[in-house]
Amino acid sequence: MMFGPLKIRLYGDPCLETKSKAIKEVGPVERMLIAAMFETMVACRGVGLAAPQIGINEQIFVVDTGKEIFAAINPKIIRTAGGEVMEEGCLSIPRVLVDVKRAKTIWVEFTDQENHQVRAQLNGLVAKVFQHEYDHLQGKLILDYLSPRDRTRIVAQMKKGTYAGNVLGDDDDYKRKI
Ligand SMILES: [Zn+2]
Repeated sequence: MMFGPLKIRLYGDPCLETKSKAIKEVGPVERMLIAAMFETMVACRGVGLAAPQIGINEQIFVVDTGKEIFAAINPKIIRTAGGEVMEEGCLSIPRVLVDVKRAKTIWVEFTDQENHQVRAQLNGLVAKVFQHEYDHLQGKLILDYLSPRDRTRIVAQMKKGTYAGNVLGDDDDYKRKI
């Protein structure tokens, strides 16, 4: 393995707030990157990981909910239905949990690592993870779902290093590290 587990970029890194570029074709380099992203996600006990989180602004993310495991390249959300709130964490924003309202069901299209076009209807956790990672590719973070007041307060505390926050534990919060 050329890459191995990669370093997770943390909030404050401009990569996380930059829009990612579409991939022309999935080749050996992208496949190696995807393998390294899977390895990194497992090492961090995350349920999803997007390329900007390792400093690469390209439209790739990986998901492993325990039930669904896949890499998505150039993902699109075609249609959404319903709404549901889930408390989400983010590997790039340690110790912060945010109530995020997202669609309950989504219809998506993406390219897989073999360059095949995939269409799917997603429900439950995998739909939330897909939307969280899709946001990462737009440069959007869970902090953007806070009220302006909470956002200002938490960001200021994070910058000062005084944010005690709603701490993410290790194992039981596995499904919230996205
Ligand atoms: Zn995240």
